[in-house]
Amino acid sequence: MARYTDAVCKLCRREGKKLFLKGDRCYTNKCSIERRSYAPGQHGQSRKKSSEYGLQLRAKQQARRFYGIQEGQFHKYFLMAERRSGVTGDNLLQICESRLDNVVYLLGWASSRTEGRQLVNHGHFLVNGEKVDIPSYLLKAGDVVSIKKKSLDSEKFKALLESSSRPVPQWLELDKENATGKIVNLPTRDQIETPVEEHLIVEFYSK
Ligand code: SF4
Repeated sequence: MARYTDAVCKLCRREGKKLFLKGDRCYTNKCSIERRSYAPGQHGQSRKKSSEYGLQLRAKQQARRFYGIQEGQFHKYFLMAERRSGVTGDNLLQICESRLDNVVYLLGWASSRTEGRQLVNHGHFLVNGEKVDIPSYLLKAGDVVSIKKKSLDSEKFKALLESSSRPVPQWLELDKENATGKIVNLPTRDQIETPVEEHLIVEFYSK
């Protein structure tokens, strides 16, 4: 499937908000949106007011880009969220959050979700003791994720673990010493920091 290969900072500028796609750089004054807070391109500084549909579309694109999920997969998550009990928008974000690549990022084992996806693809992690190399693997409450012993000895992971300083969300429990992380519970909306208005995504798909 085609992946976005242009400069990722343009995605943030297009959405008019930080989507945290470049790891540590996003937290510094080198962040492109801090310096140029208008959309890229010739007409980037003369944006018109969005229609209702435009707002819904943008919310959906922001969430997809934030998590790095392709359209087809994201729509499947929406259908899954609808079938679950509770609020569809909350369910949708909860599903996105429970992806293995996202959890690896939140545990501080990758500098960005994109890197998390690559590291999962390369087979560096175990879920409940079994190797899992599928970034979209959905974790459940009680699952334990760990870094493979062999990977822990690599310079890459030594550097990653040393530089990791982001706070871990409450719904995850990190055991730094043993390089393991437990899903205490699936996150509630107030435990999710995704900067999107999920009700607009629900409206987008409910047309
Ligand atoms: Fe977005 Fe990060 Fe680039 Fe800033 S540095 S524009 S938050 S990807």
